[in-house]
Amino acid sequence: MSKKVIKCGKFFDSVNECVKENVTVVVEGNKITEVCEGDVCCEGAEVIDLSDKFVMPGMIDTHMHICMNGEPTAMSAMYTKRDADYAFDAMINAKADLMAGFTTVRDEGCIGFVDISLRDAINAGKVPGPRMKVAGMGIGSTGGHGDNPLRPGTVMGGSLAQVVDSPDEARKAARHTIKYGADHIKLMATGGVMSVGDEPGAPDLTFEEMKAALDIANTHGKPSSAHAHGALGIKWAVKAGISSIEHGMMMDEECMDLMVEHGTYLVPTIIAAYRIVEHGDKLPQEAVRKAKACLENHGRNLEMCRAKGVKIAFGTDTGTYYSSHGNQAYEFELMQKYGNFTVTETLVAATKSAADLLRMTKEVGSIEAGKYADIVAFDESPYDDISTMCRCTFVMKDGVVYKG
Ligand SMILES: [Zn+2]
Repeated sequence: MSKKVIKCGKFFDSVNECVKENVTVVVEGNKITEVCEGDVCCEGAEVIDLSDKFVMPGMIDTHMHICMNGEPTAMSAMYTKRDADYAFDAMINAKADLMAGFTTVRDEGCIGFVDISLRDAINAGKVPGPRMKVAGMGIGSTGGHGDNPLRPGTVMGGSLAQVVDSPDEARKAARHTIKYGADHIKLMATGGVMSVGDEPGAPDLTFEEMKAALDIANTHGKPSSAHAHGALGIKWAVKAGISSIEHGMMMDEECMDLMVEHGTYLVPTIIAAYRIVEHGDKLPQEAVRKAKACLENHGRNLEMCRAKGVKIAFGTDTGTYYSSHGNQAYEFELMQKYGNFTVTETLVAATKSAADLLRMTKEVGSIEAGKYADIVAFDESPYDDISTMCRCTFVMKDGVVYKG
């Protein structure tokens, strides 16, 4: 088994939430076997010198869409692209994420179960990409976030979500999704920004529908997530037992208290709304209006979430308008700007906390003996300049060096 010794100048310890100096990491095969301060015996090992770099665990993006890449035509393309077209695009997107330092990602809804096939292809070593946890297709209601065509009589055959309108249908969709290999269940609790004809503040699935789907998730040992902006939909999802609220851009204080009480994660995805507002002149005005309203609330709400101790996991919604794979690390800077998060808090959100949400704490999220050798590095320290997070210069996944 090949042995590698990595000499780290600055080392982010996500477990103790601190930066250490001159740490040495030993990797054998695809696992970390030793982490120590100072030097170790390098005999017979390949030495990787990162002594002038900032080294941290491979980053985790807990909300992205592998089949889309920020195209302004993303919604209309759902009427014309084939599943195979999406599969080829997804392969390219997965590689871009890996090269940017994201060694684990959670896909939050994908056309044609492409994410499930890609996860399996990556695990089989057929194509390069991050470890993937996938939702397959999400579950929403008629007229909600996952039900896009507005021409009466049309049925969306290949959208990001399945449409259900009763607890029985929600149960069936959850079973269907798990049958085809999803790792978790994604629910649409409220309307969204890019979807046409719905409102982010309005509920989508009812409490009873979400509870029915989550009963299936729970009995199969699967975590869950809810696309949710408005307060009522968030409260229903949290009370139904959801693992994470995605976006949460129109929540109120009661939502935050409920989330603390239930241990529910918030995945902020600030960059999704930010990019739509930034490129507002080139996009459908309905989406721009909704993104502006969401972003205005989000900063103030995030500061309050931070103060109240709502659990935060890093996630970006990459794939949405003008938010492309490999460029999502700008979210770190936005977390500081909009939520006043410290550098340490943002790094913990993208490592230890994200791994916890994905139920992968035994495998990833920290550089410790026994975990997968997923290690990334940057030329500068984010404590000096947070924008360095967008310039990852070293990527190791499974003990294999992909960059640097
Ligand atoms: Zn999303």
